[in-house]
Amino acid sequence: MREHSFNRPDPLEGRAELESLLKQAGAILRGARFDCPKCESKRSVNILPPNARFDYWGFYCHKDGCEWRGNARTLQKELGMAQEPLPREEWLKRRREHEHLTGRISERKRELDDQISARERQDRGMSMKHGR
Ligand SMILES: [Zn+2]
Repeated sequence: MREHSFNRPDPLEGRAELESLLKQAGAILRGARFDCPKCESKRSVNILPPNARFDYWGFYCHKDGCEWRGNARTLQKELGMAQEPLPREEWLKRRREHEHLTGRISERKRELDDQISARERQDRGMSMKHGR
């Protein structure tokens, strides 16, 4: 029996995922290429295997003027399957809340520091009173 490595991700799995997403986006598989659903060119969409720059499968339409390209993630976004990033307003609101909390935490920390040094001064005063 041949030994298999189960730890390495199967590179073909990424390809199968991308192909299935391309089909959902309206691309039609023709042999090794797809018909482009954006510019409707026949067999203009190429699939790109992972390489030194990108560790995932990608695709692009080589028809002049057609900008359709991407990968499984961008396709998921296009198809409304991926979680949208936070709207800018919500992001700003959360950042303000975070800054407010951070501010309150450092305020409280200053208060505690003051209490500690006051206590230390008090202790020193007491030990001076009692002499050494
Ligand atoms: Zn195209």
